[in-house]
Amino acid sequence: MAETVEILGVTVDCVDFAATLAQIEEWVDARRADATAPTRQLCTVNPEYLVDARRNASFAAVLAQADLRVPDGAGVLWAARRAGHPLHERVTGSDGIYRISERAAQRGWRVFYLGAAPGVAESAASILRDRYPGLVIAGAYAGNPAAADWPDIAGWLAATQPDILFVAYGHPRQDAWIAAHRHELSASVAIGVGGAFDFVAGVQRRAPAWLQRLNLEWLYRLLREPRRWKRMVKLPVFVGLVLLAKREELD
Ligand code: UDP
Repeated sequence: MAETVEILGVTVDCVDFAATLAQIEEWVDARRADATAPTRQLCTVNPEYLVDARRNASFAAVLAQADLRVPDGAGVLWAARRAGHPLHERVTGSDGIYRISERAAQRGWRVFYLGAAPGVAESAASILRDRYPGLVIAGAYAGNPAAADWPDIAGWLAATQPDILFVAYGHPRQDAWIAAHRHELSASVAIGVGGAFDFVAGVQRRAPAWLQRLNLEWLYRLLREPRRWKRMVKLPVFVGLVLLAKREELD
C-alpha cells in the first residue's frame, strides 16, 4: 500500500499517476479473477474536499471508506510538502479520464461513462474511443444521482459489467453516491471525475497547460464560471486552516 499523508484530518495517498494506474490494474485483475471481489472507490482529493470533510462528518466518512484518495489540486501538494511528504504530481480526474481510458484500451478493460448533462457522456466516450483505438465502451449515460434513477443505472451496470466506472455528478455528490452504492455497482473501480466529461466533450474549456503549471487552474475556472465563487472561497479557508494547523503543532 502507498505511503500516506494526513491533511486536516484526512488521509491522502502519496501516489502519482503511475502508482494510481498500477493500483487500478491490480483491482481490475482481482475482480476479473474473482467476481465477488469488492468494488473499489477512488476519490480525487482537492482543497474543497478537505474543507468540506472538516465541516461535514458524513463527507469525511465517505473519504475515510474510499480505497484510494489521490492528491488532486495544487493546494493538496502544497500542504503535503509542508507536512514533509513532497508529492510528484497532481492526480486529477480531468487528466485521469484520459490516462485511465488509455490504459483501458491497452488492457481491454470495459469502461462506463456515467453523468454530466444528457449527451455529454456519449460524446466524451466517442471522442476517447477515437483517441484510443480499441477502447471498449461498456456504456455512456447521463442518468441522475437522485434515488429515483438508481434502478435504471443499476440495471445498465448489471447488464454491462464495466471494469471502470467514471461518475461525473460533481463534488460532493458523486463521491457520496459511489459510497452509498458501491456494494451494488457491478464495477471493479468507481471514480468520481467532476467536470471531466465536459472537458473531454468540449462543453467546458480547461485552463491552458501554462496556467495549470502556475497552479492557477482554479482562477481560470473562477473567471469562466463566476457562479462557482461560493465554492472557491474554500480555497483561502483551506490555506488558513493548514497554516493554523502547523502553528498549533509548533505551540
Ligand atoms: N452533474 C450531473 N448531475 C448533477 C450535478 C452535476 O450530471 O446532479 C454534472 C455536471 O453536468 C458536470 C459535472 O457534474 O458535468 C461536474 O460538475 P461541477 O463542475 O460542479 O463539479 P466539479 O468538477 O467542481 O466537482
